[in-house]
Amino acid sequence: MSRKKTAILWVRNDFRLSDNVALWEASKYEELAPVYIWNIHDTGVWQAGAASKWWLHHTLKKFQTRLKGLGTNLIIFRGRPEHEISKIAKKINASAVLMNESYNPYDRGSESRLQRDLDSIDIDMQSFQGSLLCPIDHLLKKDGSPYLVYTPFWNNFLKKYESRHYEAPSKLPKLPRQAQSMGCDVDSLGLLPSKGWHEKFHRYWSVGEEEAESKQKHFIARAIRSYKIDRDIPASDGTSMLSPHFHFGEIHPQKIFSDIEAKFGKIGSIEDASILHFCKEIVWREFSYHLLYHFPTTSDAPLRENFKQYPWKMNNELFTRWRKGKTGYPIIDAGMRQLWSMGWMHNRLRMLTASFLVKHLGIPWQQGAKWFWDTLVDADLACNTQGWQWTAGCGADASPFFRIFNPITQGEKIDPKGEYISRWCPELAGLPSEWICKPWQAPTGILERAAIKLGVNYPLPIVDHKEARVQALWNYGKMKKESKG
Ligand code: FAD
Repeated sequence: MSRKKTAILWVRNDFRLSDNVALWEASKYEELAPVYIWNIHDTGVWQAGAASKWWLHHTLKKFQTRLKGLGTNLIIFRGRPEHEISKIAKKINASAVLMNESYNPYDRGSESRLQRDLDSIDIDMQSFQGSLLCPIDHLLKKDGSPYLVYTPFWNNFLKKYESRHYEAPSKLPKLPRQAQSMGCDVDSLGLLPSKGWHEKFHRYWSVGEEEAESKQKHFIARAIRSYKIDRDIPASDGTSMLSPHFHFGEIHPQKIFSDIEAKFGKIGSIEDASILHFCKEIVWREFSYHLLYHFPTTSDAPLRENFKQYPWKMNNELFTRWRKGKTGYPIIDAGMRQLWSMGWMHNRLRMLTASFLVKHLGIPWQQGAKWFWDTLVDADLACNTQGWQWTAGCGADASPFFRIFNPITQGEKIDPKGEYISRWCPELAGLPSEWICKPWQAPTGILERAAIKLGVNYPLPIVDHKEARVQALWNYGKMKKESKG
């Protein structure tokens, strides 16, 4: 077979060697320039947040090292992809640009502009299935419209899913000579936050494909069988913590599904409730991508139009207390402090803290989504949008608005011994579990023994749960009446 000539591989969030179709196809060329473009021009308010930039900095360095090990490099540029790639293509005389699909509206915009520019200089653009298990447009209802409910989406997924595993290439084509002196180094992108906030992330995270794969193996060997129960106990470390690795494409869900199938049989015939539940969560991610793809404005506006009438209102003081984990509700404060410390928060806590912001404090969900965007290492436009719209009741298959989480009983349910709260709010660690979710109701003697002075070293609740609930339901009723009229 005659080898093809020179190509560019446009790397976006796919910092991995295995299950990387574009990389696999690119390995068939004689010469190859793998490039990454740091693009701050086309992303609007959704430019990578501080925690994501920390991750990106490290994953770029790791991936460069891995590519060097295969005889090439990752060349880094900053600018608009269509300008940079067209320029490089002309300089190295490339005949094709290869990439994996990206599904967010900003990347799709860059892609179509690049396609137009490459067409005009007669260069072939080839796009391959990205970080999803099923091609994005394969899962549609019979009438061709997108799904708005998860269960039929999952059922159709089971019918369409085909396992397609790609090994990591053992060698990559050499860099074109002209490309060797191009690009800038990772440090010059200035991705690391100027304040030392991120320094503690190293305690919790190791970035890169090798780490993602070993975490995944460990999870499948040790924790997957108890996932259904442990996933609801935030103190138990019962979830995979793979989300940032997924977001940056350091691991493909195909790798996980292949390993699950090798160990437990075909996905469609798995009966173990825990393993099945984990697979369904992975496919929730696909559902989130499906929704953002078909409804690209939902990162900023509710999917259910009538929620545009809900009287959400910004309140800077309450918002600051929420962000800092100083609401006076221990389970909410613990979640928000976990986020600030780790750049990550357990799923149940994401649901509770988001619900508290939009229902108890009446603050627009978009404000919360932006705070998560800036502080999560796994910040992902599809999953974050879906998570917030689900919680606020205004998205697809959303939690009904009138179901308002009680931050006291929810805390008692998911953290019965107060271990999670004690870890993230250490000033409360001396309280017996009976009082740890509601310190303001604890007898004075108990508070004294635990060295807690309410309003001094731990806040009183910023809103009363019952009153806030009544107000939210009243607002909801009014919105429903107005949107009918
Ligand atoms: P596991 O329980 O081990 O699940 C495995 C994988 O399945 C996850 O890594 C993730 O890729 C996927 N998954 C699990 N739950 C969900 C879900 N509800 N929706 C979509 N995919 C899911 N997830 C993000 O990756 N990025 C975000 O920015 C994000 N923002 C969220 C905001 C809110 C308000 C809410 C309620 C949820 C959000 N989620 C987000 C979804 C979920 O909380 C995280 O994916 C999960 O907590 C990550 O932890 P894990 O990897 O241990 O998950």
